[in-house]
Amino acid sequence: ALEVHDVHKWYGTQRVLDGIDLTVRPGEVTVILGPSGSGKSTLLRVINHLEKPEVGHVSVNGELIGVRRHGRRLKELGERAILAQRSRIGFVFQNFNLFPHLTVLDNVAAAPVATGKLSRPAAQELARELLGRVGLGDKAGAYPRQLSGGQQQRVAIARALALRPGIILFDEPTSALDPELVGEVLAVIKDLATSGTTLVIVTHEIGFAREVADRVVFVDGGRIVEQGPPGQVLDAPRHERTRDFLSKVL
Ligand code: ATP
Ligand code: MG
Repeated sequence: ALEVHDVHKWYGTQRVLDGIDLTVRPGEVTVILGPSGSGKSTLLRVINHLEKPEVGHVSVNGELIGVRRHGRRLKELGERAILAQRSRIGFVFQNFNLFPHLTVLDNVAAAPVATGKLSRPAAQELARELLGRVGLGDKAGAYPRQLSGGQQQRVAIARALALRPGIILFDEPTSALDPELVGEVLAVIKDLATSGTTLVIVTHEIGFAREVADRVVFVDGGRIVEQGPPGQVLDAPRHERTRDFLSKVL
């Protein structure tokens, strides 16, 4: 399981995460909702240790992420150890972040080669398989700029899958896309969800959340205001702030 335990994060004097506790069980799909500036991206970045929390910690299957116990304190791991942990937690960004100078195939094959997990031929074979899975088997030789936004995001998902992560984090994966391209990306994520991959997805796509999420978590002001099955949080929210937010995005 992924466990976020009492995480607090400040930027200077601004409190951005204010005691987040979250458990995501293997195979579960968790959708995180919340207003702009509520700390959703920061939470994802803390989970894979792109940001260090001032208080609290994250663990995956009992293993602390980014730190180790040192007496009663937590001590930062070395860069290599952090990178190794991060390779087991996929991250898909809003703006795809593909390597512009690499073909689609090499974008997907790069990380398993760079981390020494696979030989180049084996990584390319895996990349072809993953591109087929996201519906881009015919685009292996293209460069990112030759693809639509939806296609680029599907490459980014294939790239995340190439390291065979136990968990994949998505930060608003469709919010940079033209409306007609949103569906094809959500379909790929839905396919991952039904195949049992553990997913944590920040999105404003409420219909998608209702369909795919095992749990919806509503965050506001760096705190979890409420969480539960989509039918509860989306259709019968208990808190005024959740109702207010949903009335704006629905
Ligand atoms: P959005 O829906 O707009 O993406 P969010 O919920 O993802 O918002 P965060 O990006 O986590 O919100 O930001 C939470 C708060 O932390 C915001 O007030 C933001 O300005 C601040 N913040 C985020 N990153 C930094 C940073 N690197 N340095 C300083 N402040 C930051
Ligand atoms: Mg964000």
